[in-house]
Amino acid sequence: MENSETPKTAESLRFLPSIDALLRSATATKLLSQTGAKHLTVLARSVIDALRREIQENGVNSIEFSRESLLLEAEKRLEHAWRTEQNTSLQRVINATGVIIHTNLGRAPLSENARQAIFEEASRYCNLEYNLETGKRGKRGARAEHLLAELTGAESALIVNNCAAAAFLVLTVLASGGEVVISRGELVEIGGDFRVPDVLTQSGATLREVGTTNRTKLSDYEKAINENTRLLLKVHPSNYRIIGFTASPNLTELADLAHRRDILLYEDAGSGAIFDLAEYGLTDEPIISQSIVAGADVISFSGDKLLGGVQSGLIVGRREIVERIRKHPLYRALRVDKLIYAALEATLEAFRRENFLQEIPVLRMLSATNAELMTRTAAFADKLRESLGENSALKFEITEGNSVIGGGSAPDVQPVTTLLALKHTKISVSKLEEKLRASKPPVITRILEDKVLIDLRTVSESEEVELLGILVRLK
Ligand SMILES: *Cc1c(COP(=O)(O)O)cnc(C)c1O
Repeated sequence: MENSETPKTAESLRFLPSIDALLRSATATKLLSQTGAKHLTVLARSVIDALRREIQENGVNSIEFSRESLLLEAEKRLEHAWRTEQNTSLQRVINATGVIIHTNLGRAPLSENARQAIFEEASRYCNLEYNLETGKRGKRGARAEHLLAELTGAESALIVNNCAAAAFLVLTVLASGGEVVISRGELVEIGGDFRVPDVLTQSGATLREVGTTNRTKLSDYEKAINENTRLLLKVHPSNYRIIGFTASPNLTELADLAHRRDILLYEDAGSGAIFDLAEYGLTDEPIISQSIVAGADVISFSGDKLLGGVQSGLIVGRREIVERIRKHPLYRALRVDKLIYAALEATLEAFRRENFLQEIPVLRMLSATNAELMTRTAAFADKLRESLGENSALKFEITEGNSVIGGGSAPDVQPVTTLLALKHTKISVSKLEEKLRASKPPVITRILEDKVLIDLRTVSESEEVELLGILVRLK
């Protein structure tokens, strides 16, 4: 490697702008207010370092050989480095995938009222722990807990960071040092990093597996109960289904058994439903109020799955049990922020007004009929055809397909939907998908059989104009 630099390389290295020169450029001046001076210097240094390395390694072929062009190249890269970095920050996207509770896209989009509650109320000083009637200290989360208890028919409610935290907390408080009986058919993994057996072990409880993967009888549970048993655990399998020769006791039978033997019944309902959603094909999600009636002592479920609110773990059940959980030091570590309470309150209010199908985006999308989607998609396609005009390279057709519930809920339910299938005569399908993903805001689609698919079920009507504009720019 001894002196591998050609004379030309040495010359381009001489022309390589200094970090200071790059920082004085028009591009750097423009970026300064966004990046801050210190970070801009860090970016500029890495751009110059990379350019120097490239010149040393590849000679001058790849980069035009002049002082001006090297500076221009450095400016271009500086801007690109900043844009790339910014793309990793949280930003709104248009979800055209048709996956309603899309975990990678933040699960549930919030209702207008929930967004307002965060923005207008909770993001300023607010009465989080202050009673406006008495002028004294108030109870944190009281309103959200009250609504939750009322809507589920439970005596009490408590809210933590997510459903995994709820399960961990409930098991720690109620079963640490004791045994928990669970069916082998319910030792599931949900969403990659939530495994029921692992959470159980972490909580300090001992797992007592009973039955088989497809069949567990009440007597299996009964035989496993001993003086160390603290509770029976019922876990909703959420993202998978066992079909065929299956059996498991219902919640009432389990509750009767638990209470006869003086232990507790805890149900991890996962998504859960506040109201019966069987009309929309969701026949398998536990309805929380029914679980309470069946006799579950405590139930946990997610705030951002079918409830359509924010990430949170909702715990409901008997007052004495919920208060025991509230008093445990671990609750203090898992409690939620004011923004979460605000969004949850607004979401739960919509359920109480029985206006959730209109107000809560997840439930509005879920309940949209294919007839509605056909009409919407046809109208959108008409506008697109008109805006693209003749001879557009972007081609499309309307086809039928399926949406997905997502979020580990109802894997067997795939609502029929109407799709806009896109193709481009000049670029590949994957390039088309990539271009849509690079638009502002990014449009997230899926590819099937060499077409880019757009499912308006998960696109709000207020986003249609934007989406139209983005598509027209691809003509
Ligand atoms: C989704 C799910 C969880 C985890 O809920 P998060 O809110 O994502 O923490 C736990 N248990 C069941 C049964 C689930 O479906």
